[in-house]
Amino acid sequence: MTSRRSVDVAELVEQARAGGPASARAVARLISLVENSAPVLREVAAALAPHGGHAQVVGLTGSPGVGKSTTTSALVSALRADGKRVGVLAVDPSSPFSGGALLGDRVRMQDHATDDGVFIRSMASRGQLGGLSAAVPQALRVLDAAGCDVVLVETVGVGQAEVEIASMADTTVLVLAPGLGDGIQAAKAGIIEIADVFVVNKADRDGADQVARDLRYMQSLGGRHSEAGAWRPPIVKTSAAKGNSADSGIDKLAAAIEKHRDWMTRHDVLAQRRRERAATEIESIALGLVRRRLASVHGSAALGSLADRVVAGTTDPYTAADELVDSL
Ligand code: GDP
Repeated sequence: MTSRRSVDVAELVEQARAGGPASARAVARLISLVENSAPVLREVAAALAPHGGHAQVVGLTGSPGVGKSTTTSALVSALRADGKRVGVLAVDPSSPFSGGALLGDRVRMQDHATDDGVFIRSMASRGQLGGLSAAVPQALRVLDAAGCDVVLVETVGVGQAEVEIASMADTTVLVLAPGLGDGIQAAKAGIIEIADVFVVNKADRDGADQVARDLRYMQSLGGRHSEAGAWRPPIVKTSAAKGNSADSGIDKLAAAIEKHRDWMTRHDVLAQRRRERAATEIESIALGLVRRRLASVHGSAALGSLADRVVAGTTDPYTAADELVDSL
């Protein structure tokens, strides 16, 4: 049984890396496996491990209606025109539905549906074991191993998920647009702090220049980006609805994203960010393991005898807890 499974997993990873139409199916299958925490999850993770570290993970975030979806699709066109292999993960933390079916409704991706060089997937996490923080990094690993040069992660929902996704991205793009509430004010302050690239979309509309000016003013006030040698997030004006046409500004966005990657590599920031991310991930998996083991001792003889000793006053609960954790 185990050996049959390992053959399947290795084969899937190979297919995912090979390219062509079979590749998309293998990628979809692998993401389903990691998403559902299938028993082969560990085997998949092990098989993917040697093939990672190539893709630049770009998170696109911003309030609903600013044009994230449109921008994502236009960016895919620009990256494909540049010969890059692209992955797209549309993440909706508020929806209980996962898979490819809903994507057509949500992401304007029909243009890319038949392109072998583009992998598209939507993910939802409500009610799932470990939630977003567990499933998304694994899906990113699959897309990375499949040879994507860039993986675009588009958050559909708002709120905490934005910050969570940003923590998984190498480059965070905050999309703003005129005419939506107070422009910058509408975006969460926290996400403005962590954005690496600002997009003022709907540049064809009145008010776009004002949003860009507001951003520039805000940048002039300082923050971490004003330190010497720091990356200063560029402000790119786009009209994503024009697709990847010459006057859409999308090529400038693609260039800004690439520039950020170069900067991170030159300043050793990329390696450092990835190291921190890996550490957080290991910690969270380990915590899950410890929690599961602890749950299994509930009602056990070992815990019972520790409890007896605490009640009898021969030990205190802290010492007993140390003993319990050491015994796991
Ligand atoms: P999301 O909710 O942030 O993903 O936004 P969407 O990509 O779904 O876009 C919201 C609306 O804005 C749609 O009706 C788009 O057609 C429109 N839109 C997107 N980009 C532009 C643009 O550059 N200019 C204008 N005028 N409208 C745009």
